[in-house]
Amino acid sequence: MPSSETSIRKCAVIGAGTMGSGIAAHLANAGADVVLLDIDATLAAAGVERQIRTGGFMLPEFASRIRTGSIRTDLALLADRDWIVEAVAERLDIKRALFADIATVRKSGCIVSSNTSTIPLAELVAETSPAMAGDMLITHFFNPPRQMRLLEMVTGPRTSPDAITRVSDFITVALGKTIVPCKDTPGFIANRIGCFWLAAGLGEALRLGIDIEAADAVMGKPFGLPRTGMFGLWDLIGIDLMPGLIRSLQDNLPATDAIHAWEAEPRLISTLLERGLKGRKSGGGFYRVSKDRRTREVLDLRSGDYRAWREPPALPAEPGALLHTDSIEGEYAWAVMSRTLAYAAALVPEIAERPDFVDEAMRLGYAWTYGPFELIDRIGSPAFAERLARDGQPVPTLLRAAIAGFYRVTDGTREILSSGDHYTPIPEPAGVIALPALRRAATPVWSDKAASLWDIGEGVGLLEFHTKLNVFTPALLAAVQPAITKTPEYFSALVIANDGPVFSAGADLKAMLALSEAGDRESLRAFLLNGQQVFSSIARTPFPVIGAAGALAVGGGCEILLHTHRIVLHAEARIGLVESQVGLLPGWAGVTQWLLRHQEAGLTPADAATAVLRGVLTGTTASCAFAARTSHLLRGTDGIVMNADRLIADARTLALATAPEPERTINLLLPPRDVLDAALEDMFPTLTPHDRVIGDALADILSGDNTPVTPPELTDRVTRHFLDLALTEASRARMRQMIDTGKPLRN
Ligand code: NAD
Repeated sequence: MPSSETSIRKCAVIGAGTMGSGIAAHLANAGADVVLLDIDATLAAAGVERQIRTGGFMLPEFASRIRTGSIRTDLALLADRDWIVEAVAERLDIKRALFADIATVRKSGCIVSSNTSTIPLAELVAETSPAMAGDMLITHFFNPPRQMRLLEMVTGPRTSPDAITRVSDFITVALGKTIVPCKDTPGFIANRIGCFWLAAGLGEALRLGIDIEAADAVMGKPFGLPRTGMFGLWDLIGIDLMPGLIRSLQDNLPATDAIHAWEAEPRLISTLLERGLKGRKSGGGFYRVSKDRRTREVLDLRSGDYRAWREPPALPAEPGALLHTDSIEGEYAWAVMSRTLAYAAALVPEIAERPDFVDEAMRLGYAWTYGPFELIDRIGSPAFAERLARDGQPVPTLLRAAIAGFYRVTDGTREILSSGDHYTPIPEPAGVIALPALRRAATPVWSDKAASLWDIGEGVGLLEFHTKLNVFTPALLAAVQPAITKTPEYFSALVIANDGPVFSAGADLKAMLALSEAGDRESLRAFLLNGQQVFSSIARTPFPVIGAAGALAVGGGCEILLHTHRIVLHAEARIGLVESQVGLLPGWAGVTQWLLRHQEAGLTPADAATAVLRGVLTGTTASCAFAARTSHLLRGTDGIVMNADRLIADARTLALATAPEPERTINLLLPPRDVLDAALEDMFPTLTPHDRVIGDALADILSGDNTPVTPPELTDRVTRHFLDLALTEASRARMRQMIDTGKPLRN
């Protein structure tokens, strides 16, 4: 797989608690050989078990890449490590003692990093030798380490550039994290601003007496903040942990810092904690959901009692408009967000070299859609600065300078106001080709309303879809064909890729349902044959086509990938043939392609057909790219990338290394019907009545009498059964429910 060579293969994590065990699991996901040590070996082993249970590993068997032990007896296991991550208790004395022990065994050049949330690097390295200090830095992972993209990195004046480069390459490429460089200040970037926002959000809510639902509606959509809202996040982090986090910042920051305006533990919080209400983990906090999950209650901030959840008032969609609304919601929005955004603006360059680093940290660490500076640009920086002044709040110097906004685009390049009136280009990181940057800087070589063909350099084109959720409408199918035909005019290879959370949600279900309801078998057949023809033309192109999915690819979205010459998936992408959930079959030769892959992998005809029958009938997605490989949706020659941002660039590298394959005549061997009937019988207890109908259709499609079947013949069988199924009332009911609720109907 195209990913850069790394000098880091052997890693160790010390401390197998929440973070250490999660970091160890993710290092194992990346293929590293990992040692995990705690005070005693049983604690380390328990950490691995916990990660298996809670999904820290992409595949449970990756746990075998971790060797566990005790720091007291197994220190020698650290001798051959390339990188050691410290994730022990947050105490300077414990961490310093541990570094002294590590210094006695580590090999020269072994990188040693701390996962500390609050202790400055300067203090961590104060007692270490110059050689060790040169290899030391802070790598601050977020919880859970597998899922959270952000990694805050703090390097010191003594950290060697070589150590920084080596560990940064590994963190970016192998672990798939986005590194945000931070200054050596308490709480770094995300928690410094995030905790301020959480403290301000609570403090102002108590002062104004706003309802929790209304407060969270404000701290949600209008500002592009996650649906959890502010109180929801208190509950999620833990009401017991939050005061400690705020207090730690207050203890470590000068008295002039704005964080001191908020009480770390207002009386309400102490009372909640006395009542054992710690948030989600304790069954109640600011919100309480009944055991049957039917009713949701909220805490009344005045009385401290729970009451029924009330629909919050409708709010303006734009942050600027909300801040000017004459209501308690508008007042609350201004009170919290003006202070939070001004706080962020006052902290550059103290905590980060540039404002865009702060925005990136808040987007990735707190799931904000827009970072503070992007939000200020949306509100309008001069108007914001003016209102701050009117309000008697200090106006940060950087904000005064942002008369024309913090961001601008010059000749297709995004730039950021870095100091005074100076704008600095924001470069795309090496190894990244990003669609938003392409859209800013170039025009596609060909495009229509459903798709565009872009030049991504080195003779490679990129085909991008434009439909909602990138579903295959007739218009998209009609666009893919000319894009494929045009490719050789411009390019020697093609990548099919989309950005956003969905690569493609498959065929246009609404269109299918309409045809089914009209009883229009012929139009359904035409739609099926059209898709089959377009997808098979991809498989037959004389140039390599790479399917690159960074996110969900289901149904037809998965089938198009199966027709490309090579697939590259982001490790967390979920792909699958899920059509049975809507009462259908994979109609664009997905069944045939999946069966071919099983046979290529050496499964017997009986095992291959049984696996496809089970897979299609269950209709689920693979839980990650490695699981897709296990279930033969991915071939061994297909690629998995850990860093979603690098997907397109890696697909381009793979395109350049892939030779077009001559078309081969392959025949499929199918087992006798009783093999498939036996498989269905095994599944019987889990099948609904309509599942059984679909199961019978699949058994019919996948069984044979020892005469080889060609792929087109097998696809024809699928077509016939597809049409029969699509016209049943039970399948229509499944389609309707999916369209209406997004959930499968188990009829
Ligand atoms: P934790 O309490 O869950 O785990 C700490 C582990 O370290 C325990 O298993 C403990 O037995 C072990 N330990 C203590 N002293 C040790 C020693 N001398 N040698 C070996 N093991 C030792 O803590 P955590 O939440 O995982 O936090 C670990 C570090 O990560 C802290 O520095 C913390 O500030 C930081 N951090 C935590 C989070 C978070 O969300 N929890 C996020 C980012 C960073």
